[in-house]
Amino acid sequence: MKRIILKPGEEKRILQGHPWVYDNEVEVILDGPASKPGGAGPVKIEVKDLIPGEAVDVESSRKAYLGRAFVNPNSKIIARIYSPSKEGVDKGFFKHRIRDAIERRTLAGGMAPDLHRDSARLVFAEADFLPGLIIDRFVGWPLKDIQNAVTLRPLTFEAVEAALGPPQSWLAIQFLSFGMDSRREEILAALEEVLEQDGFIIPDDVPLGKCAGIVEKSTAKVRELEGLPLQEGLIRGSFPVEEIVIFENDLPFMLNLIDGQKTGHFLDQRDNRRVAAAYVQSANGSPDIRVLDAFSYTGGFGIHAAAANPGAQVTCVDASAEALETVRINAELNGLGDRVSTVEADVFEYLRDAERRIKDPQEYYDLIILDPPAFAKTRSALEGALRGYKEINLRAINMLKPGGVLVTCSCSHALDETRFRYMITEAAADAGRRLIMLDFRRQAADHPVLVGYDESLYLKCGIYRVV
Ligand code: SAH
Repeated sequence: MKRIILKPGEEKRILQGHPWVYDNEVEVILDGPASKPGGAGPVKIEVKDLIPGEAVDVESSRKAYLGRAFVNPNSKIIARIYSPSKEGVDKGFFKHRIRDAIERRTLAGGMAPDLHRDSARLVFAEADFLPGLIIDRFVGWPLKDIQNAVTLRPLTFEAVEAALGPPQSWLAIQFLSFGMDSRREEILAALEEVLEQDGFIIPDDVPLGKCAGIVEKSTAKVRELEGLPLQEGLIRGSFPVEEIVIFENDLPFMLNLIDGQKTGHFLDQRDNRRVAAAYVQSANGSPDIRVLDAFSYTGGFGIHAAAANPGAQVTCVDASAEALETVRINAELNGLGDRVSTVEADVFEYLRDAERRIKDPQEYYDLIILDPPAFAKTRSALEGALRGYKEINLRAINMLKPGGVLVTCSCSHALDETRFRYMITEAAADAGRRLIMLDFRRQAADHPVLVGYDESLYLKCGIYRVV
């Protein structure tokens, strides 16, 4: 087994739980046994002698064992530790890891997704000790079948189940590291055994339903840093030509696993959407509650808001015409077609324009949701990103009625919670308004946060009342 020996002091971050070794932290790479009786010791090798994807041991400068890792000599992240011990990787390893990850999902107490009806992220890469592997599981039925069989609106899980039988499930999988990509066959075989043959049993003793199809969604830019091509498509089973409908907090949402952004539906905001919906109230006693869902994508927040209060009029704004088409389908499935409208626009321009257009504070919004894409993908992009975050937050605060609520999110891990909150403080000061923090939230529990690995703590969702 090859061994990567780190420079002095570089082990600290790893001992705290961070699984990455950067190329500039490596002192030397050794090959061969630690010592041969009477013979030569290990030989020094170069980075280029490492085979992409192979497993190596990582040790501190004092030769303390740190763990076993997959290497990629072509990436700045030269090694990703997958185990604290000398564990081999085969199908059995992946079965173990995947089972453990699913079990942790079911142990999240009141926050646990019910895997019989909720879609959930089953594996969240490094935070589940599977560096670069993401698996989302979607539970539902093909939209076409529902449209043919169930006319009830709002559509309920029970009505669909009564008409079409138990839901099916589909997996969306992302291989984001060389180590995982090169082991895709073992991973798929392990998944099949865990989820299909064994019919994974969760605590209430009911096996999970069979998996109907697996879609690869390896389209994240980080693949390019690993020297891997972007690729997507069906890799196992079947997928309905038409879209599928899942239920989130008992509300139906359509998604297209093949064409959707990321994996088709942003599961990490599940709890935040439910919590935000509890703040759909009139700020000034008017019966019309005005809600703006900015960066709405398929309407996750907006639909929850409209469903929560019959007085709510929701405007979903997004730059993607396709996403807005799905908002309209989602509104129809939820029986909310008359209270959810869509606007295809750049949110920056929309807010600027709204400030010019709406002069009467009575017409300001009662609730504004800001859920932009990650403006800061890297730490170096942070300053520019902060200007963008501040601009939309400032304008949103300006457009809220006294007593109105701002739900403001950022999914940039490079922007930490403290700086995010300070950005809001500055935006409120510039707007000359006072804010009360009602809640400050993170991603849902099926996107675990691994302590010491700050990249896994990425989603921030602040809820503030403007007074
Ligand atoms: N709130 C959504 C997720 C938002 S993802 C949910 O709950 O599911 C970010 C969205 O922002 C994407 O749909 C993308 O199309 C949109 N987007 C990105 N830049 C934009 C811009 N400048 N103006 C409007 N929409 C934008």
